[in-house]
Order: sequence, then C-alpha cells, then structure tokens
Amino acid sequence: MKEKPTVMAVVNQKGGTAKTTTVENLGIGLAKAGKKVLLVDCDPQASLTICLGYPRPDELPVTLTELLTASINEQTVDLTKGILHQKEGVDLIPSNIALAGLEVALVNTMNRERVLKQFLEPIKGAYDYVLLDCMPSLGMLTVNALTAADTTLIPVQANYLSANGLEQLLQTVNKVKRQINPKLRIEGILLTMVDGRTNYARDISNLIRETYGSRIKIFDSVIPRSTRAAEISAEGKSIFAYDPKGKVAAAYEDMTKEVLKNAEKRRKHQLEQLR
Ligand code: ADP
Ligand code: MG
Repeated sequence: MKEKPTVMAVVNQKGGTAKTTTVENLGIGLAKAGKKVLLVDCDPQASLTICLGYPRPDELPVTLTELLTASINEQTVDLTKGILHQKEGVDLIPSNIALAGLEVALVNTMNRERVLKQFLEPIKGAYDYVLLDCMPSLGMLTVNALTAADTTLIPVQANYLSANGLEQLLQTVNKVKRQINPKLRIEGILLTMVDGRTNYARDISNLIRETYGSRIKIFDSVIPRSTRAAEISAEGKSIFAYDPKGKVAAAYEDMTKEVLKNAEKRRKHQLEQLR
C-alpha cells in the first residue's frame, strides 16, 4: 500500500536562508531515492521556478496563481498545463509575480487560510512528498502553506540575526497549529551555509543547538557554504547534476536520508501505537 503523502512547508520569514535551495535539492534528492515529488513555488519572486530551469516565469501560461484562483472560484482546471515535469524527476507548480496580487486578494476570500490546502487535497495523493517553498514573510501565503502542511522544515543560516528571528517564526507555527492545523509538526531546523572552518559558525551552531535542541530536532546534517551551491540557480539544475562530487551535494544527500529515516521512524512508531 502506498504511504500517505507528506506535505512539508519550508519556511523562514528571513530571506536568504536557503529555503529555495533546500526545496530544490531535498526535492530532487527524494526523487533520486525513488519518491514521487511535487514542488510548489509559493513565492512571487519565483526563485524555485527559475532554479528548476524555467528562467522566464512571467511567460508561463499557468502558475500557482491561476490554479488557486480556479480553486477559489470552484472551477475545474487542466492540471496538465499547470504541473511541469522537470527533467531531474520532480514535478513543479511554478509561480510568478502575479502571485503577489493573489496574496492581497486572499484577505477577502472565504476560508482564506485554507485555499492552498483545498487545492492540494485532490492532487497530493499522487505524490509521496509535496514540498512548499515559502516566501520570506509570515503573510497569507505562508499561513496557507502552514495550514496545508503536515510538517515544517526551517532552514537557518548560521549567524546571530537568523537565530533571533526564530522565536517569531516558532510562535507563528504554534499559532497555526493551535488555531487551524493541530497536526502540524516541526520536522527540524537545518543549518545552512555553514562555514565549517570558522569558530564563529561553530559557536552559532552550538548556540542554536543549546537553545532549541531540547524542543526541536536539529538536523545532524549541516549544509556547508560553497560557491558551487550559489551557482546552481543560474544553471537551472540541482547540485546533484551541477557538482555531484562536491560537499554540498553530499550534504543534501545526507539530509535527504535523514528526512527518510525520520519518516520511517515515525511510521514504525505509529504502527506500534495501533497495536
Ligand atoms: P531563500 O529561499 O531562503 O531566500 P535561497 O535558497 O534563495 O534562500 O539562497 C539565498 C542565496 O544563497 C542564493 O543566492 C543561493 O544561491 C545562495 N546559497 C544557498 N545555499 C548556499 C550554500 N550552501 N552555499 C553558498 N551559497 C548558497
Ligand atoms: Mg526563496
């Protein structure tokens, strides 16, 4: 029997913490491990869409905006136009700047926090993992992602400012959990762009582990900083295709294994509870 799909929101209201890079490489990592994966670009900046090899998102005929609008208006849509099959084996619902307009319109929509959830409901069954790449804010679209999600992954750049913003993010996650989505879990905090050679980065990593480690899982895998990782968005391919032997590819491969291992643990635990 096919396992239930996992919807994972990758969130941090701070820009530049490697949310998009993580969605891309975890997504393709999971696909390489044999999982069926859908990536959803929930950011009007469309970085994920661009990173995955669609450099002109504004020219795409159907994006998340059109799909959500149709869903709000209870119209049926031709998903074959809206779900792109990327060449490294993941599916993508792209976005573009029009999504910024939809976010504003959402405020006056019935069930405004649940629009993304309702849209994904009939689609997600075809996948093992649906990863939501959130924009750098805690606005309506991010709340929609947290409402649609089973779990949330928080990439954090190893510096003091990132560590500060975490409290606010965790409050929002907990608020959505209390008021809208009681099953929402936190998958973990992923340290990104870690410069392993400096004491500073090590201090920050330790600080985050000490402050949050007792409440929240901190991934054992950390993503090192590397210019090779910064280059992939322009190449339109994952780190596995661009620099397969590099340290960032190895780190994302490790991290993917950790996600799969945790899912397996949780599944075993649930089975034991049922007995
Ligand atoms: P976010 O989606 O959180 O805004 P991005 O994934 O777009 O963050 O990453 C922000 C910037 O940092 C991008 O220019 C990206 O190429 C770069 N970047 C991401 N991961 C790494 C890394 N491991 N090493 C160096 N640069 C990185
Ligand atoms: Mg991004």
